[in-house]
Amino acid sequence: MITINEERFKEVFGLIFSAYRARSFGFANTHADNLGPQKLFKPKCVQFGDKDHLYWLTLVALSDRRTNSTMLYRNFARMFNRNKKLFIRGYYPSHPKMEKLFRTYKIAVPVSDIALFLERKKHLDELFNGNPLSIYVGVKNVDDLLKKVRRIAKQNGVKNPFPGAKEKIFTLLAMFLTELTDLQFDDLVPIDVWVQAISSSAGVLVGEGQIKFRILERSLRPLMRDLFPEFKAVAGASNATWVQGKSMCTHCARLDMKGICPISAICGPFRRMRNPSSGKHYGYIEVPSDFVPKGSNPC
Ligand code: SF4
Repeated sequence: MITINEERFKEVFGLIFSAYRARSFGFANTHADNLGPQKLFKPKCVQFGDKDHLYWLTLVALSDRRTNSTMLYRNFARMFNRNKKLFIRGYYPSHPKMEKLFRTYKIAVPVSDIALFLERKKHLDELFNGNPLSIYVGVKNVDDLLKKVRRIAKQNGVKNPFPGAKEKIFTLLAMFLTELTDLQFDDLVPIDVWVQAISSSAGVLVGEGQIKFRILERSLRPLMRDLFPEFKAVAGASNATWVQGKSMCTHCARLDMKGICPISAICGPFRRMRNPSSGKHYGYIEVPSDFVPKGSNPC
């Protein structure tokens, strides 16, 4: 059985956010500004923070699986820039046309996701007036937001307004929107694969065995909600764990991270579980029975 060491969570992620704030370790050169796809890409025809930018950003974020965000945001930006009708609320191209656009702009999503894209656009327009901020009106955290979305869905006879989008995506979208507007929201750090893997590698998870991503996500979110306010005023701080994962953890297996990673003394080896037969990352975090986190008392 796996449980969460809350003190260790505070220590591990407090060090990461503090390093981000101080622009120390690997954050000296790598920040949300030069790594975050939401900062690097936008359609040329929109201004940062204008209503079309927020609309575009929402439709990309709802399609984001963060497998290759850089390509996704860049190609979505090109597609919208050259097909401005996509900004029109109430405009829904036919599925074959949308499929052709996705192919032309090399947006690599499963074919079924193209129908979902149109569905999300329609629901954003019809249920939230085409304004992503309306999704967040009257709610303070992602749990309340999901209840609100379900309630609106029921009232309008819709099964799921934003199919494919779960807690992590609504948190990611809140993170983007707070960078561009005065939206106030309590969940701003997505409990993504990086937060989960760092928790595993740095001894936040205690015990042994497997835990499903979704269950772990739900356990870690309240802890992140409590920890993050101290760093909220730092521009881009909600991106810190993603920047950490993307720019540091990915290299951890082959580089010495001392001096680069703010928690190298208490973390490692880095472990993202792969399915033994397919070799793909899969929906569990596993803590082996012989795992002793660095900097902890092995007894
Ligand atoms: S020690 Fe490695 S795995 Fe752990 S946080 Fe640092 S870079 Fe990531």
